[in-house]
Formats: sequence, structure tokens, C-alpha cells
Amino acid sequence: MIKFWKKRAENSIATRHLKFDKDLEEIKKELKSKIGKKFAGSLAIRMVSSGSCNACEAECNALLNPYYDLERLGIHFVASPRHADAMLLSGVVGVNMYHHILDAYHQMPQPAYIITLGDCPLLEGTFEKSVAIKGAKSLDLPIFHHIAGCPPEPKEIIEGLLTFLKHLP
Ligand code: SF4
Repeated sequence: MIKFWKKRAENSIATRHLKFDKDLEEIKKELKSKIGKKFAGSLAIRMVSSGSCNACEAECNALLNPYYDLERLGIHFVASPRHADAMLLSGVVGVNMYHHILDAYHQMPQPAYIITLGDCPLLEGTFEKSVAIKGAKSLDLPIFHHIAGCPPEPKEIIEGLLTFLKHLP
């Protein structure tokens, strides 16, 4: 126990030693400017988990911490698809979620964009032939952008969102 507290006192708070990521700051600056131009400064995202392991969601939670602080750039995660400009879809699209995803999408104001998050939605592997899994392709909805990774790190998600904004008409 003494060892633990000694280490705490020596190292102080871990986040104090985070290095300033210049690259990330540049990406954030560009993201904020694009959100300003394309969404009048406020991009609302509805996260839909369709049978994920929750690691993708955990990485998204990190986006709202004081280090990444996406709300400061104008990105908001909203509870209702009716308030959302884009859907962030994670997970394998299980049979039980299939109709809920379609339902959520059709409640979104148009144009609504679907961004798939993590490798699961486009799964082509072990579980692909399972009767419990349908996969995002089966939704027959326009998937505008994909953010790859298992799970993608917060910085990769931010970069992915910037690429999504760059591809918007
Ligand atoms: S892509 Fe990986 S981390 Fe994300 S939900 Fe699927 S298994 Fe989990």
C-alpha cells in the first residue's frame, strides 16, 4: 500500500504528462471549421450499437473527455434520431436490431448520413454466416462513410469524421 501511494506521489496525475499532439490539434481545427460550414456549427450524431462488444462505444465516450473534447468543436451525441444529422452505426447488425436501425434511419431528417464505425458492421469473417447476424449491407441503406478499426482509437474516429465532412457535397 505504501508503495502504491509513493508511486502516486512521484508520478502525480497521469494526464498531466500527456504530450501536446500538434497533429490532433490541426485535425480538430479543420473539423470545427468544416462543421461551421456544412452544419452551421453543430453536428448532431445518433450512436446506434447493433450488437457490438462495446469497445467502439467506449472509444466514443472518450471523445467527450476533456482531452478530446468534441463538444467544443460542435459535435453532439443526441438521444433521438429525430435530432440527428448522422448515424454512427457500430456492431454486427444483429437480427434483433435490424428493424430498429431502419426505424431510426427513417426518423432522421433528410439528408441523413450513415457512418459505420469499427470493423463489425462490414463483417466478413467468423460470424458472417450466423443466422443471428445480418451485417450492414443487408440494411439496403446508403452508407456514406466507414471508420475502420477494432476498435478505432479516438484520434482515428476524429480523423474519420473529418474525412466524412470532406466528402459531403
Ligand atoms: S469493431 Fe471491434 S471493438 Fe468495435 S464492436 Fe466490433 S469487435 Fe468490438
